[in-house]
This record gives sequence, structure tokens and C-alpha cells, in this order.
Amino acid sequence: MTSKRIKKNKPNKRTNCAKLFIISGPSGAGKNAVVCGILKKLKNASRMVTCTTRKKRPNEKPGKDYYFLTEKEFKQRIKESDFLEWAIVHKKHYYGNSKKILEKLQKKYAIILLVIDVQGAKTIRKKALPHTSIFINAESEKKLISRIKKRKAMMSNESLKLRLASAAAEMKQAKKYDYQVTNYENRLDETIERVCAIIQKN
Ligand code: 5GP
Repeated sequence: MTSKRIKKNKPNKRTNCAKLFIISGPSGAGKNAVVCGILKKLKNASRMVTCTTRKKRPNEKPGKDYYFLTEKEFKQRIKESDFLEWAIVHKKHYYGNSKKILEKLQKKYAIILLVIDVQGAKTIRKKALPHTSIFINAESEKKLISRIKKRKAMMSNESLKLRLASAAAEMKQAKKYDYQVTNYENRLDETIERVCAIIQKN
């Protein structure tokens, strides 16, 4: 399926407030590829860069993929109530997104994509912050496992094991999301179209 350009969403002039879309899904579901595709199509959408205490991977850039913090720095930010939400993901590292960054993005963009795990989505649901949530999944657990294993070169065996363990638990949360989208193998464009359509509808 070829991708078509989709018309831009306009910022909400009355409230000057962008719409927030939470995107979650297990490791290997293809969330990042989907989000990259959305950003190419919707020029007034932005992905919120979040903070993490995990080590930078060789292909990642600070400030573009994540803000890489030490655990001490991260805990200090928790104390200062800097995070909209934060969580320990894959039982190992801290991840969180800054309220200040969200405020800045809200002034510039009509659509903000927040790619966070199921714990983060739960916190935002509890805070009753207006948003639309989308869960991206693979077509089967088997497919997911094989995709996670392909990332072997990018991460340690321990990280790989933790991601495999979290995937099953994360998939159980899918029904709590407003939308569930399956990212079928070799059909990325189609998935991007479907998620863009959801964004435009909301
Ligand atoms: P990775 O270490 O593979 O980049 O990301 C692991 C997971 O952390 C991803 O599933 C991603 O959605 C989640 N994540 C990234 N940033 C945040 C955040 O700010 N809050 C929460 N709760 N999860 C996050």
C-alpha cells in the first residue's frame, strides 16, 4: 500500500492546546517505525522526547531519541515534580517525560505523540489528562519474540530477556487503550495510515 499525504491538523485556537496521543505497545511491535512514519505525514505533529537512565545505544542521539540522565539526576527531577509521569520500565531503568517539555511542544504543535509504556499510560489515565491512547501490537506473540530477538546486536542478553518478559504483561493491557492497531509484518505503510486516520478523527 502506498502512503498518501494527509492534511494537517490545525492547533486548537480556542485553547491553544495541542492534542495528546499516547502510543504504547510491547518491544518489537514497531512503535518507533510507526511514529517516524506519522511524523513524516503530519507536519504539525511532534514526538515528545522523554528521559531515561538507560545507557545510550550507538545509533541514538541525546535530545533526539532521549535525554539520557543518571539515576541521581532522574531522582532529583522526581523530587522537583518535573515529570508528568515516570516509571521503571522492564524492571530496570527509569523513564519519564517532563511537564516543561510538554508545555513547550503544546505551544508549537497541534498533535503531540507520547511513546510510553503501559504504566505511563495508566498514570496519565488516572490524572484525567485529555488524550487518546493507541496500542500498537504485532500479529502474534511468536512474531513479536522473533522481532525482539533480531535486536540482539543492539542490546545485552539481559535487556533482551527483560523485554521478552515484559511483552506478555504489556499485551494484557491492550484492551485498556482507546484503539488497538496491529502492525502486520511488511505492512508498515498500512499501519501508519491507520494510526494517522485515528489521529485525524480525534
Ligand atoms: P527502550 O529502552 O527500548 O528505548 O524503551 C523501553 C520502553 O520505555 C518503551 O516501550 C517506551 O515506550 C518506554 N518509555 C520511553 N519513554 C517513557 C516515558 O517517559 N515514560 C514511560 N512510562 N515509558 C517510557
